[in-house]
Amino acid sequence: MSTRSFDGKSLIGPAILAFFIISLPLLISNPYYLNVLNIIGLNTIVVVGLTLLIGYAGQVSLGHAAFYGIGAYTSAILSVTYGISPWIAIILAALVTATIALIIGIPTLKLHGHYLVMATLGFNLITNIIIVQCDSVTGGPSGFPGIPPLSIGRWAIDSDIRMYFLIWSVTLVAIIFGLNLARSRVGRGLRALHSGEAAANCMGVPTRIYKIKIFVLSAVFASVAGSLYAHYLSFVSPKTFDIFFSVELVTMVIIGGLGSIWGGLFGSTFITSLPNLLSSFDEYKDVFYGFILVVILISTPEGLILEICRKIDVFRKKRRQGNNDSRDKQELDTVGPSSISGLSLAASRQILREPLLRIKNMSKRFGGIAAVSEITFEVEKGSVTSLIGPNGAGKTTTINLIYGVYRPNKGTIIFGHNRIDGLSSYQIAARGMARTFQNLQIFDNITVLENVMVGAHSKPGSEFLVSMLHIPPYQKEEEMIREKSMEALEFFGLDEAADSPAGQLSFGEQKRLEMARAIVSKPELILLDEPVAGLNRAESMEIAHLIMKIRSKGTTVLLVEHDINVVMRISDKVVVLNYGTMIAEGSPKQVQTNEAVLSAYLGGSF
Ligand code: ATP
Repeated sequence: MSTRSFDGKSLIGPAILAFFIISLPLLISNPYYLNVLNIIGLNTIVVVGLTLLIGYAGQVSLGHAAFYGIGAYTSAILSVTYGISPWIAIILAALVTATIALIIGIPTLKLHGHYLVMATLGFNLITNIIIVQCDSVTGGPSGFPGIPPLSIGRWAIDSDIRMYFLIWSVTLVAIIFGLNLARSRVGRGLRALHSGEAAANCMGVPTRIYKIKIFVLSAVFASVAGSLYAHYLSFVSPKTFDIFFSVELVTMVIIGGLGSIWGGLFGSTFITSLPNLLSSFDEYKDVFYGFILVVILISTPEGLILEICRKIDVFRKKRRQGNNDSRDKQELDTVGPSSISGLSLAASRQILREPLLRIKNMSKRFGGIAAVSEITFEVEKGSVTSLIGPNGAGKTTTINLIYGVYRPNKGTIIFGHNRIDGLSSYQIAARGMARTFQNLQIFDNITVLENVMVGAHSKPGSEFLVSMLHIPPYQKEEEMIREKSMEALEFFGLDEAADSPAGQLSFGEQKRLEMARAIVSKPELILLDEPVAGLNRAESMEIAHLIMKIRSKGTTVLLVEHDINVVMRISDKVVVLNYGTMIAEGSPKQVQTNEAVLSAYLGGSF
């Protein structure tokens, strides 16, 4: 699960596979088995793309047999009907498939969960009907014969063994591309969006664009495999690309391990060879795949391979636990209320009068509820400004409005010198803002370090092509992100847990992890939504201390918090909301004695 993609270790797997690809024909000369190996290779190419789509991005498609079919038919029609070179036909088929995937992907990827599955399944059915109905172009139900083999000059790649080397070379390249992408900044972004789309978006991951790009890329992988299939068998029929093949492909992804490229190779080898080796199995295979899908999804929802990796991680974590416990206790003991007293005063000297965030007459309604009404306040550069108020006062809604999760019905939000109301969360993150969440939004499918590295998405970096091809600036950039993320983890005392799955951290550690993830991009403004909620006194004081340290490093803080003790100690300014309206604004001392504030807090004192 670690993202150390740029060391020599990442080449070992592909090198071993290359060795097997070269050696296997020495052991297997029977054309039947070579044919099985070739089909495994073709399926693996599709499965690599599908693993990125389903396992990494969490978008389940039951339409990839259609993309395989589109690749096969387009390549066949271009080379037979129009006499285009098969190599060019494969490229053109990939472009046609990419265009169709883009047109299908833009509306369908707005859908979630079962709706996306249904939409892609419908697409697969429609594609099959079109192929059957357009018999003058596709040959209809009886198929499309006479597809020429690929050739290099006069040397035709027309035997099982020749196709074996071609198919498995492409498979190896697909696996390397898949591994590169999976271990890159983009791969982290995909896994983050799988774990929590809204949170990933807030970290700067352009989730919608990523979903469309990975859908198109996986369709292109399927198209290339389909084209190779057509030129290998010289005949294609609609039966090959029906919905059952889509189910088979998804079963391969799931059986190997959602989110594991090597697992995908295992899944495609296992599922493809079964009916070929046990001929009587062919009749029952669809029932069997359905059964496997249900059993694996219920017992190990993330697939077999990832389940094994997780067990190893848990074992490692248990061994490390003892050391961490004693260290944590030591740290907490050194941070007490006394360590934050006086911090506010010292830090307030750094406040600039220049406002960094200006909110003017901002309102938000949810149906009949006015969650926020005409609020106006400023957050000065270098300050800790706290937003307080009783439950339901509109604090989190205000944070969500500032961060682009909701659009205000009225009013303006200016960050620096630019209006940001109307922008999406990832665009706001890119302008230098970061946030944490009231309800923890940790990406629990990746490690602690990777969680923090996702926070670096708000800065521009390598995208799909550069990541997939490992083009040089990529390596340096990854090392820099890793270094900065480790620094952020050290700052929050989590460096020892860097390689642990984030879901295994304690509640308090996860709170600190969210803060580490937010500061890694060195934002100008950080929005902290109830950072000490649910923590004990010592932990709250530690977080308060860390907030002051963040501010002393030049980051402005907007804090939403119920713990009045923390608020009064570390804030330069306090804004009080009640029933969605602003009832007071001023220094901690001023709001503490404000009549309206006192009565809002049940008529008592703080
Ligand atoms: P708390 O301190 O309990 O978290 P808060 O001050 O953060 O409260 P908000 O969560 O902003 O308050 O909620 C303000 C009002 O808006 C509440 O009445 C809440 O029920 C309502 N509200 C918030 N989000 C939504 C939503 N997505 N849909 C409908 N109503 C909402």
